[in-house]
Amino acid sequence: MKWKGRARSRNVEDRRGKGGAVVAGGGIGGILIVLLVAFLGGDPGAILDQMGGSAGTSSNQPYEATAEEEQLAEFVSVVLADTEQVWTEVFEEEGMEYVEPTLVLYSGSVESACGMAGASVGPFYCPGDYKLYIDLSFYDELQNQFQAPGDFAMAYVLAHEVGHHVQNLLGVMEEVQPLRSQLSEEEYNKVQVRLELQADYLSGVWAHHAQGMGYLEEGDLEEALTAASAVGDDTIQQRSRGYVVPESFTHGSSEQRKSWFYKGFEAGNLKEGDTFNATDL
Ligand SMILES: [Zn+2]
Repeated sequence: MKWKGRARSRNVEDRRGKGGAVVAGGGIGGILIVLLVAFLGGDPGAILDQMGGSAGTSSNQPYEATAEEEQLAEFVSVVLADTEQVWTEVFEEEGMEYVEPTLVLYSGSVESACGMAGASVGPFYCPGDYKLYIDLSFYDELQNQFQAPGDFAMAYVLAHEVGHHVQNLLGVMEEVQPLRSQLSEEEYNKVQVRLELQADYLSGVWAHHAQGMGYLEEGDLEEALTAASAVGDDTIQQRSRGYVVPESFTHGSSEQRKSWFYKGFEAGNLKEGDTFNATDL
């Protein structure tokens, strides 16, 4: 992606090296919200374990990032600025006003309005404070563990989290959240898959406009599609457990994630993104 020397977002909060405080309050509801919007599903037990005890560490040492990580911090800040520009325009076309989210960079663990989260949660969005949370080491994870290298793979991830923010502004989150207590786990998982696939679609919408502005380089689209596929539930489950349980999917299969991202990329607007009424899901 062409990003060097371009404008950065002002909405970046750098909490790297600060650690998170030990969880106080938040409660189960908060923790569940973290689960709801975490980029990678994951085992609820593992998250709860992580939430218990003194997960957080505080340090007053200055955080020393490598030159590579600093580049990455600049990169995500440029991508965030791009999403601000695109979503402001798309919202205006729909007669709405876009409220910019804040991107929190953290290392290790972080406290959000949704509760305490560790790095293994992956990037997530907290609807309660309009913030996206990313530990930049996720970039290495994408490259090594998920085999999805490239800057545009990371851009896809960031744009997916921004997609959750867009859903929040559009009122989608508000409609979905009460269903957690009303539906069985299996039924709720299906709703969550639709929510996640819509965030992939919205990530694609952003990529459409980034391409229109001439920011994409050869291979970028493939990097995003590879990443979308790599974080599919079936691929993750196959790798981590050796088998796949479709009823437990919370984010959609590799094929679904790829295809909804691509749908958004082709459409470039909100119109084709109603995953909740899609009959093929
Ligand atoms: Zn998500």
